[in-house]
Amino acid sequence: MNAPNHEKILPPDGELARPYWDGAREGELRLQHCADCDQFQFYPRIICSHCGGDKLSWRAVSGRGRVASFTVVRRGISPAYPAPYVVALVDLEEGPRMMSNIRVEDVGNVSVGAALTVRFEPWGADHVLPVFELSES
Ligand SMILES: [Zn+2]
Repeated sequence: MNAPNHEKILPPDGELARPYWDGAREGELRLQHCADCDQFQFYPRIICSHCGGDKLSWRAVSGRGRVASFTVVRRGISPAYPAPYVVALVDLEEGPRMMSNIRVEDVGNVSVGAALTVRFEPWGADHVLPVFELSES
């Protein structure tokens, strides 16, 4: 019988999302931007999800957003995930919606519509993960 795995779950490795992970390591939230329709998208794809164009490049974005929805996880899936923690859908200022965590002292302080700012934290041995915290307005 295998010992239980108490490591964090890591994202799959791949070229498509490499600029995203490199950006996080450098303290930047980077999204794909489409030159044809001037829209951002998340998650990374090989074509634009808005217009089907393929003129995609990576741009650093503001890291600001608002809570679209969230849940409080009160029982972590392993000791690598200390509970309680907040899993949220974040509407980024540039348009895309992404799933992330909100780091907050008191999970009762999170509400739909609350303003957020990205921050970056180590995730496992090799990754840095964009997470969010409540901002002033
Ligand atoms: Zn497009």
